[in-house]
Amino acid sequence: MTTNSSGKKNLTTGRQPETLSDMLQRRGVSRRAFLKYAAMTASLMALPPTMANVMAANLARARRQSVIWLSFQECTGCTESLTRSMRPTLEDLIFDFISLDYHHTLQAVSGHAAEEARRNAMKENKGKYIVIVDGSVPIKDGGIYSMIAGMTNLQILEETVNDAFAVVAVGTCAAYGGLPHADPNPTGAVPISDLVKDKPLINLPGCPPIPEVMSGTLSYVLSFGKIPELDHLARPLSFYGETIHDRCYRRPFYDRGLFAKSFDDEGARKGWCLYELGCKGPVAYNSCATMKWNGGVSFPIQSGHGCLGCSEPNFWDMGGFYKPLSTGLGNMGSALAGAAVAGAALGGGSAWLARKHQGEYMKNLVDHEKDKAGQNSKKEN
Ligand code: SF4
Ligand code: SF4
Repeated sequence: MTTNSSGKKNLTTGRQPETLSDMLQRRGVSRRAFLKYAAMTASLMALPPTMANVMAANLARARRQSVIWLSFQECTGCTESLTRSMRPTLEDLIFDFISLDYHHTLQAVSGHAAEEARRNAMKENKGKYIVIVDGSVPIKDGGIYSMIAGMTNLQILEETVNDAFAVVAVGTCAAYGGLPHADPNPTGAVPISDLVKDKPLINLPGCPPIPEVMSGTLSYVLSFGKIPELDHLARPLSFYGETIHDRCYRRPFYDRGLFAKSFDDEGARKGWCLYELGCKGPVAYNSCATMKWNGGVSFPIQSGHGCLGCSEPNFWDMGGFYKPLSTGLGNMGSALAGAAVAGAALGGGSAWLARKHQGEYMKNLVDHEKDKAGQNSKKEN
């Protein structure tokens, strides 16, 4: 090994580590292909076209970014998702852009040797490495429900983020607690944001997150050395700035009040709106309707199923994936009919209704959490 990802001279060779540009040249990647990649990533991040050249110049000068990936209470779906990234591919990420110094699922070593690799990467890249976390952290009963090499998840997290540059919580479990946090939350699972307070934190929720959202966010951090603009839940605005409903191709049917009533009725066959079959698109902020999945092939609504709202907090506990937003969230039946009429006449009623749903949905989430907390404290008493 002749280089490391720290940007320091290699102790054995005395040489500076390669820049990304050097590495790409060595691997025979043309400048044209590289510029194309930069333009594509800039557009993924909704940056102005002029920023593609800046991104290309910054990326060309960049040295490999050290990344330590911690997996806690999760299903490995987030890693599975990243390995299906088309733009850039996982290979691009690992070989060209990042040095994945520690990853339970992908690394060859295990046990104490793996922990030593993690500590070495931390030492070599002090203050510069990025910690990616998937999964929530169990804190009940001393955190015994998930341990690695004799350490609880909380101990590993605290030790690893201490000298990190930034932390990225990928997936709904890391961002909000996810499935392990669902009622009755037997392990006391908490999101990373509850535990990491003194480092820049990016949440990339989704069950799993869209692969290009993960790879694009990492490329942005590497290009600009800072985290992208975030919303109130610490999600990059470029990927989570609009609801699924805002960009859904079935939206014209919603605006005209045309809803499928079952998954096999005439409305479903004609591609009508899935709102009444439980679609949570109006309150789910994510890029599925524009970026889609599997390299842009399709997304759940295009495949005939409503959005589950997986990029929002507590989506597992919201009373049923097939329950319309209007039921159990106050009586919105009449508001919906009103918006359909207004939508047909003005084209704007549905946007108003979506915002109204969002507000009521969030209020319901808060009420639900308060009820749960009240019940738990009664049980404890
Ligand atoms: S409710 Fe769902 S299916 Fe209907 S337009 Fe909105 S996102 Fe699309
Ligand atoms: S369509 Fe909805 S449930 Fe499906 S992945 Fe996107 S945000 Fe999650």
